[in-house]
Amino acid sequence: MGLPPVDRSTLWPYEDGEPGEFYYQRYAHPTGAAAEKALGELDGGEALLFSSGTGAATSVVLALLDPGDTIAVAEGCYFGTPTMFGVFERWGLKYVEFDQTGPPPEGVQLVWLEAPSNPFLTMPDLEAAAAHRAPVLVDSTAATPIHLRPLEHGADLVLHSATKYLGGHSDVLLGAVVCRERETAERLRTFRYRTGIVAAPDPAWLLLRGLKTLEARVLRQTETAQELAARLGQHPRVETVRYPGFGGLLSFDVAGDPRKVETATRVIVNATSLGGVESTMESRHRWEGDRVPVSLLRLSVGLEDVEELWADLDQALQN
Ligand code: PLP
Repeated sequence: MGLPPVDRSTLWPYEDGEPGEFYYQRYAHPTGAAAEKALGELDGGEALLFSSGTGAATSVVLALLDPGDTIAVAEGCYFGTPTMFGVFERWGLKYVEFDQTGPPPEGVQLVWLEAPSNPFLTMPDLEAAAAHRAPVLVDSTAATPIHLRPLEHGADLVLHSATKYLGGHSDVLLGAVVCRERETAERLRTFRYRTGIVAAPDPAWLLLRGLKTLEARVLRQTETAQELAARLGQHPRVETVRYPGFGGLLSFDVAGDPRKVETATRVIVNATSLGGVESTMESRHRWEGDRVPVSLLRLSVGLEDVEELWADLDQALQN
């Protein structure tokens, strides 16, 4: 019952003159180890925490690839992912974008999928990717292990921005990679303590707490999102609805001025990010420019009553 208390120690005494399981926080700490065990069980692999989803992604690139390697990345994925790859272009990293609903291109050293993609909500062809010779990573932030366990579909790595659904309350910045192979996990672990891209005990504890309600939250968010997606599809001021049929994330194009719609909601918070208990909505054009339609709004469905959310959307769409 309950959760273990947070142990914020940065050091633990040696045992009979030798380092024990925990001795210095950058290497490992009890709260992080407990959270990694819980997440590893959910995804069916070996989990490692990092300081953010982006920190986790950076660690995969730097620990597992070599200069000159190319990543095939799903087009329309979280825009920060290819942006981060771009940071390492001057270190010799290359990337190509491809349509993840089909097979990845040849001649790449890592395939990077997103399930479903944010904000286009496409689903990858996991079977086609698994047949590729390169290792496959699935950023499963929006699906969560409640809807998808990518390692069971041939993926080698799962990435989560735990900042979103896993933490679940918009109060923790955290990332995770779940590995199918122990050897890959060891390479990442070594890279992590050598570079210091580590998660502190408090975020790890908030993840443990969030995981306790993950299933209940995600299933309810899915139920509400399914209903809202169906109703938005019938709305005269909505042009396109993108929703994969599960999860709490969707996007839609409005006929009018998206700025007027996003600023007119009263229940749904006009803010970035996703996966929290409070619904958030924003135009992604402000961040991604021409990569997304000007009229696209991304909605992350929280735990509010579905009728309350619908009434809010309906009145905002009149603007
Ligand atoms: N992956 C996806 C799908 C995301 O939506 C995000 C953030 O929005 C990230 C990764 C990056 O995560 P973080 O903000 O925790 O660095």
